[in-house]
Amino acid sequence: MDKITSLVEARKQFATQEQCERHLRDMRWPDGVTCPRCGSKAVTYMESRHQWQCECRYQFSVTSATVFHKTHIDLPRWLMAVWLVCHSPKGISSAQLQRELGVTYKTAWYMTTRIRRAIKNANFGVKLDGILEADTTMVPAAQGKKKPTWGNAGHDVLGIVSRDAAAIRMEIVQQLSQREIMRVFAKHVGTVKRIFTDEAPAFYQLYTIAPHETIKHAERYALGRIHVNHVENAWSLFKRGLHGVYHFVSAKYLQDYLDEFAFRGSHRGEREAMVNLVLACC
Ligand SMILES: [Zn+2]
Repeated sequence: MDKITSLVEARKQFATQEQCERHLRDMRWPDGVTCPRCGSKAVTYMESRHQWQCECRYQFSVTSATVFHKTHIDLPRWLMAVWLVCHSPKGISSAQLQRELGVTYKTAWYMTTRIRRAIKNANFGVKLDGILEADTTMVPAAQGKKKPTWGNAGHDVLGIVSRDAAAIRMEIVQQLSQREIMRVFAKHVGTVKRIFTDEAPAFYQLYTIAPHETIKHAERYALGRIHVNHVENAWSLFKRGLHGVYHFVSAKYLQDYLDEFAFRGSHRGEREAMVNLVLACC
């Protein structure tokens, strides 16, 4: 399949159910269609049913055991939705997806929720290695009808970037304590060469993982290679998306949005692969 670099091209390539089935088939079984039950390649395609029958008598389709299976939403809409999520740096709201795909708001919301779940699965198998930057930010709490009060002003979020892999993770921390910072590091980092942060006390124990150097933000933003600019850029993109696209994100879903942005941030140099990575996890 040709590279799909524009919205026009995506609409062309994902125009029909058959094209989308072919795309998913080639992605799922690059070495030929294989029975998901017994692993045999002795399968026969049944044209009229869009299904294969295996020599073990099992019948399956390209969407078997995926979120696309037996939904009322057709494949062209599903694949376009995944494409749009991956190609919108600040994200895409359910309302916007509703307009782009000509579906109801409820359907669009269901699709974005399922795609975000697939992203969660696609994202976090790999640990962050090499030279890392870490920084925290405050994401204001979604206020709804209640006024913000002391204590629910927002959520602290820790961001960690691997400069070598240009990969990022963002995670809510319960409080800005050394223990919480160490917990999130243990979850996301592998072999670390060096860590750069600002001088916040919560980062004090990072020296136990790797050499730790700090930048004094009151004085300057960078001293040679000591800076956290990559994380700062990720914060700024996330906050613009949060205010400009989503408007309102409740505490319940905040981590899902952080994962979505971290996923796009980690794969921004390879959007084509990003789409297939999400499709493979749907
Ligand atoms: Zn079989």
